[in-house]
Amino acid sequence: MRPFAHFAPRSLDEALDIFRREGEGGRPLAGGTDLVVQLKEGGHKFPYPRYLVSLRRLPELRALGWHEEQGLRLGAGLTMAEVASNDWVRQRYPALADGAGLVGSRQTMNMATVGGNVCNAAPSADTAPPLLALEAQARIVGPQGERLLPLEEFWLGPGETVLRHGELLTEFLLPPPLPRSASLYRRHTPRQQMDIAVVGVAVAVALDDGGRTLKKVRIALGAVAPTPIRARRAEAALEGQAPSPEAIARAAAIAQEEARPISDVRGSAALRRHLVGVMTERLLREAIERARRG
Ligand SMILES: Cc1cc2nc3c(=O)[nH]c(=O)nc-3n(C[C@H](O)[C@H](O)[C@H](O)COP(=O)(O)OP(=O)(O)OC[C@H]3O[C@@H](n4cnc5c(N)ncnc54)[C@H](O)[C@@H]3O)c2cc1C
Repeated sequence: MRPFAHFAPRSLDEALDIFRREGEGGRPLAGGTDLVVQLKEGGHKFPYPRYLVSLRRLPELRALGWHEEQGLRLGAGLTMAEVASNDWVRQRYPALADGAGLVGSRQTMNMATVGGNVCNAAPSADTAPPLLALEAQARIVGPQGERLLPLEEFWLGPGETVLRHGELLTEFLLPPPLPRSASLYRRHTPRQQMDIAVVGVAVAVALDDGGRTLKKVRIALGAVAPTPIRARRAEAALEGQAPSPEAIARAAAIAQEEARPISDVRGSAALRRHLVGVMTERLLREAIERARRG
């Protein structure tokens, strides 16, 4: 690693001041489980930083609260272990608990943050499809003030986000789940643990009051496009329909069409597309069954 300055502010304002004062060439450091590895490899994914600003002591990134009407506030600085073990998350947003609970080893989960997972902008990030399916919004704070945007608009490409110099992702806002709803995330990896998703699929469904039709369907895919994506045509094909095996299979086939996978060391494009179909169908069935059971 090459030398760099390290700042450890104790508040969000102090962190923003450091970026303002020091100018270009700085980078936020959360758990460091992506960034430190990238720096050790020479930082070729981005210009080598002149300074790092640690986010670990910022209380503003550690919000965690539930409100019946507003839903969940989830600080970007919470670790995967904290997210995966939180009761609100486990009970109301199980897809997110699934994703956070898969990140690396126990040691990785104790360091890695949910904000870092999203800001690193890997198409395979395990909390990205769950957050998309759960319709998370991202709060961004920077020198020009604050903005709130749907997470879907956060990524521009692999390793690229809408964040400008000196801007920080501070928290996620997740709307409350509807009655009779359920969500799930699964990934396919050759190894069960310590591996990166070849494909990740998250679904969130809600049934109507009688439990006969699907009121809401969200399907999000990881590792099959330059960024995590929503399979919007597949969602629309199922919404308002009875959840018959045929309708579910049709939606899964549409999700396959919406995927734009590439072939790489982890798997071919054909394998990825096949997995999208199989996994989407299975997850929809399981989520609908769970929503029925309440
Ligand atoms: C052994 C190992 C196993 C892993 N397994 C998995 C896995 O199974 N699934 C998976 O998805 N990932 C995995 N990862 C990758 C990594 O752990 C996650 O992406 C992690 O969530 C990154 O979070 P972090 O807090 O460590 O981020 P950092 O490494 O600190 O930061 C990552 C990037 O985000 C930026 N950043 C961080 N926080 C903010 C913020 N609040 N605002 C603005 N920018 C910010 C940083 O500048 C940097 O560019 C693994 C990594 C290791 C080392």
